[in-house]
Amino acid sequence: MKPIYLDYGATSPVRPEVMEILLPFFQTEYANAGSIHDFGQRSRDAIERARKQVADSLDASSPREIIFTGSGTEANNLAILGAARKHRNRGNHVITTSIEHPSILETCKQLEREGFEVTYLPVDPYGQISVDQVKEALTEQTILVSVMAANNEVGTLQPIQEIGRLLRHTPVLFHTDAVQFYGKIPFSVQELGVDLLSVSGHKIYGPKGIGALYIKKGIRIEPVLFGGGQERGLRPATQNTPGIIGLGAAAYLMSREVEQERQRLTRLRDLCLKRIQKEIGRVELNGHPSNRLPNNLNLSFHGVEGQAVLLELNRKQIYVSSGSACSAGKHAPSHVLMAMGKSEEQAYQSLRITFGRETTESDVHQLVDHLKEILEDLRTFLRNKP
Ligand SMILES: *Cc1c(COP(=O)(O)O)cnc(C)c1O
Repeated sequence: MKPIYLDYGATSPVRPEVMEILLPFFQTEYANAGSIHDFGQRSRDAIERARKQVADSLDASSPREIIFTGSGTEANNLAILGAARKHRNRGNHVITTSIEHPSILETCKQLEREGFEVTYLPVDPYGQISVDQVKEALTEQTILVSVMAANNEVGTLQPIQEIGRLLRHTPVLFHTDAVQFYGKIPFSVQELGVDLLSVSGHKIYGPKGIGALYIKKGIRIEPVLFGGGQERGLRPATQNTPGIIGLGAAAYLMSREVEQERQRLTRLRDLCLKRIQKEIGRVELNGHPSNRLPNNLNLSFHGVEGQAVLLELNRKQIYVSSGSACSAGKHAPSHVLMAMGKSEEQAYQSLRITFGRETTESDVHQLVDHLKEILEDLRTFLRNKP
């Protein structure tokens, strides 16, 4: 039996078409994009084409609004540190949520060490915040709001467009971590009303180690790295040409398919959930039932640890996640599920299944068939334990 990968929330394979386009930039088209000769000019041109592709995929008004970074994590660090430090003269207050990715939460902790005040908004049992919560948290001192578009663990979507509308005519900057959202649901940065938005290559079938930050025209932030003047001085370093070309190609291909893929994944996800609820039972769906990523199921099977199910599925070469990949290995309950008001026990029971481009209906059926057997065995075993 072929392995079944159901951990697309952690990462995705590079598409063959993308691989083909980026490979020459390792070997024959290797010139430094900063070199003045024609050879360097070709790298420069290729990077600018990729910048246009990413800009178009976000509906940005100009490619100049895109800065390439070394990862989604780095885009988040640059957005938060760069915006807060730049606008410190106007205030020292930042608003975020308690369920952000560690690359936001830990960066906000750094801001606190630098003397900023950070409000971590609590979420409801579905993992959502409301626009009113943001409104009530705003003070004269607020300079930045950062709310993730879609949660990486439970898939819940946030009211980004409404928050964007609330902040549109204020001097408060609005950032969203769209790393999970990008490529799953079509969107436009202009409609969302964001000033800053982070994406990552490897979650959309591009390479690992490449990300991008959208910075709306006229918005000023500070760099966090210092060196040459690349990327308008905001991300100095010799550009990762193959990574950038790969991200551009992945973004282009993604935007042509995103709506169709959204519908297909929604159908697979709903099929999977229906079968699990009907045939396995005593299971809870974590996150919002409908306002969630089309490819994400986060489930708590009553009485059984998520890790135990993960390991049993692993023996069948079916690869899923418990909590998020970032917190796996660390044996601590997920900060997201805890913030949603789950008990530690429920948090330890959670299993994340994320579908992707290669997932078929047959994969879903095989997953549920195995899950059924595994849950029966584990639950019988636990019941008969002395
Ligand atoms: C994966 C992820 C990141 C980090 O992106 P990297 O490119 O892996 O650094 C940030 N935020 C969210 C929501 C993610 O899912």
